[in-house]
Amino acid sequence: MLNVYIVNIPSEIMPYKDRQKGLTYQRIYNKKHYSRRKQYYREKNKERRKETQIWLREYKKTLKCVKCFIQDFRCIDFNHKKKQDKLIDVSKMPSYGYSKETIMKEINKCEPMCRNCHAIHTYENKDFLYRKRVRNDSNIHPSA
Ligand SMILES: [Zn+2]
Repeated sequence: MLNVYIVNIPSEIMPYKDRQKGLTYQRIYNKKHYSRRKQYYREKNKERRKETQIWLREYKKTLKCVKCFIQDFRCIDFNHKKKQDKLIDVSKMPSYGYSKETIMKEINKCEPMCRNCHAIHTYENKDFLYRKRVRNDSNIHPSA
């Protein structure tokens, strides 16, 4: 049997019946709560970041470079297939506090590549863009 009690509380006892006042109170309360437990939340975030870093390292152990096929987590980078899709470097994401789900979404835009192949790939791509820009700019090379 479910008992339902309807109690009429006078508004002077329940001053936050007003939504806006309630939200203001909540905001102040949250601020106080956070400042009292600052150390706890900092530690918790630190632990979470550490855990995500370990998770990413374990994930990297399952990957091979798409160019030279080396399988070593210490040198695996994530190369964004389309530069315009890039949000952030995947390797920086754990320390910035991103969740595993968001990191996985970013990884799905990438292909695993070792540092050497990644450096060469990046250099070649930039070189390509540079040559294209110079060729199209007739002010720099009027004779072209
Ligand atoms: Zn490689």
